[in-house]
Amino acid sequence: MTATKPYSTDPSELGFDPEALRQKYAFERDRRIRKEGFGQYRDAKGKLEDYMIDHYAKPIEREPLTDEVEFAIIGGGYGGLLAGARLREVGVESIRVIDRAGDFGGTWYWNRYPGAQCDIEAYVYMPLLDELNYVPTERYAHAPELLEHSINIAKHYDLYRDTCFQTEVTEIEWDDNSKRWIIHTNRGDAMKAQYIAMANGPLTRPKLPGIPGIEKFKGHTFHTSRWDYDYTGGSPDGGMDKLNDKRVGIIGTGATAIQCIPHLGEDAKHLYVFQRTPSSVDARHNAPTDPEWKAKLKPGWHKRRVVNFNETLGGGYADDDMVGDGWTDIFRNVGGIVTGNVDELTEEQKDEVFELADFKKMQEIRDRAETIVEDKETADKLKAYYRQFCKRPCFHDEYLQTYNRPSVTLVDTEGQGVDEITEKGVVVQGVEYEVDCLIFSTGFEVGTSYTRQSGYDLIGKNGTRLSEKWADGLRTHHGLTTHDFPNCFVLGFTQTGVTPNATHMLDEQASQMAYIVSEARKRGAQVVEATQEAEDEWCATCDSYGDKTERMLAQCTPGYYNNEGGKANKNGFISGQYGGGAVKFFQILKEWREAGNLQGLDIS
Ligand code: NDP
Repeated sequence: MTATKPYSTDPSELGFDPEALRQKYAFERDRRIRKEGFGQYRDAKGKLEDYMIDHYAKPIEREPLTDEVEFAIIGGGYGGLLAGARLREVGVESIRVIDRAGDFGGTWYWNRYPGAQCDIEAYVYMPLLDELNYVPTERYAHAPELLEHSINIAKHYDLYRDTCFQTEVTEIEWDDNSKRWIIHTNRGDAMKAQYIAMANGPLTRPKLPGIPGIEKFKGHTFHTSRWDYDYTGGSPDGGMDKLNDKRVGIIGTGATAIQCIPHLGEDAKHLYVFQRTPSSVDARHNAPTDPEWKAKLKPGWHKRRVVNFNETLGGGYADDDMVGDGWTDIFRNVGGIVTGNVDELTEEQKDEVFELADFKKMQEIRDRAETIVEDKETADKLKAYYRQFCKRPCFHDEYLQTYNRPSVTLVDTEGQGVDEITEKGVVVQGVEYEVDCLIFSTGFEVGTSYTRQSGYDLIGKNGTRLSEKWADGLRTHHGLTTHDFPNCFVLGFTQTGVTPNATHMLDEQASQMAYIVSEARKRGAQVVEATQEAEDEWCATCDSYGDKTERMLAQCTPGYYNNEGGKANKNGFISGQYGGGAVKFFQILKEWREAGNLQGLDIS
């Protein structure tokens, strides 16, 4: 124990050497940095357009629409559903949800790959459980239940009425004479709406690696978010019998791959997993919902648990860790390292303690790989050397075990990625692996501008384009409204208080939006718009937190959290968010509502 610190940094006491780990993490990071950054990826366009095919919906035909609704919501995922639900609760009758998908569900509409599951506890992740009087069937829900819940929310709040599915918004413009938005789509629509809410979601456009030869592959191929069950057979529960005689390759080992690889390993004749960076894979411990626990739940249980989870992740404000899983573990570790009160540490000491807690957690996860994977060389390749929140932490009870199957080969690329794709397969370090089917588990476009990701631009007052206004980063009031774009709300990662439980954040945003709309109605107002001053003030608040998180992430192995290696990027995933954290952010919104004067909004 050092004299000045109420915690130890001694390797023999800690069971790991912090300095050696710092060096190893830096080595692993440096060898993965690519000068092209995001430029290494390709959009699923042109010759790669087939990767966008919707395998789940029957194409529909309809006449273009020019009618009017009070509220148009772009996006029918949990964000759009929460927006619709909270608006219904304040009496908004005329709502139209528009989505390129064939139904509600958003990410759970698209991601139907076998084993798809939410890695945040369903009792806090699934929204509106109190309202729908629903208790998930298992602790970590699988995609079909998450999709079904989306549909149930839509039915409960009567949101199917007026929906436009299989419809892509191409541009939205404000008509200042009629004080209406005009929504243009790929179906020739020019619908009108008094208000719009953009709930597009942050990870929606599949991205592909720019591997030389990607167009040449002659076998079958698809992206995980467009799973082709016609080809594989089976369902999200697995049982892909059509793969029994197929050699399958999968590129990517992120949160998605972790979940589908166990099924592919079970069903394919042979599976090759092409890995650039291993994920950290902790134990899942999923379980069916205990009927006795369920019977004891009191009204309001869901909200209480959601808040508790957020407070625990937000720095241990909650006395009791109700969820108590791998997400909150690291925060419990902090308590175990310090003798005395964490609050009494200096900021520098807090950072160090948090780093030590992280080292401890990651060491446990690496040890887990060694315990489960029989072949030592393979186990070593599956060990993640970076801080836990550098990438999405993963949890699975069958993933590592899959590598004990003789029919599964891990092809580790030593951080360099796949070299080439040929007509027959995949080349790594001069070896060609022939496959019948090649699956891309390479994630979604992140780090490009908001309007590129959403696929449409907004033209606000005085011809102001959102793409231009936000060219140097997001500018909003409370992450929800933006000057020159009246009656427009933005839901998502937009100068907001970020929490891993995205549905909680979306619900707070949706509730805030519903409050504003109902107050505007009470005041007989037709138009609500953020003032320039309020927007400037909120941007200054966000800036005032500096770039502490970004500096921490810059030390991370490359990925979308750190702009593929820590380069400053005004459109980065976490760039410009409110740095005070979700707990404080939700409190700010609450106090703003309680003040009751709609400060910062022009209403007319
Ligand atoms: P990711 O972007 O997380 O992963 C992409 C994978 O592709 C990485 O392993 C990446 O390696 C790899 N890759 C990219 N280019 C190459 C290349 N040239 N050669 C080899 N490998 C390559 O996408 P996911 O779809 O896995 O996950 C996206 C996000 O979706 C997650 O971060 C999470 O937020 C969310 N998600 C949530 C789930 C949930 O339970 N709630 C479940 C699944 C996903 P590298 O790491 O080296 O870049």
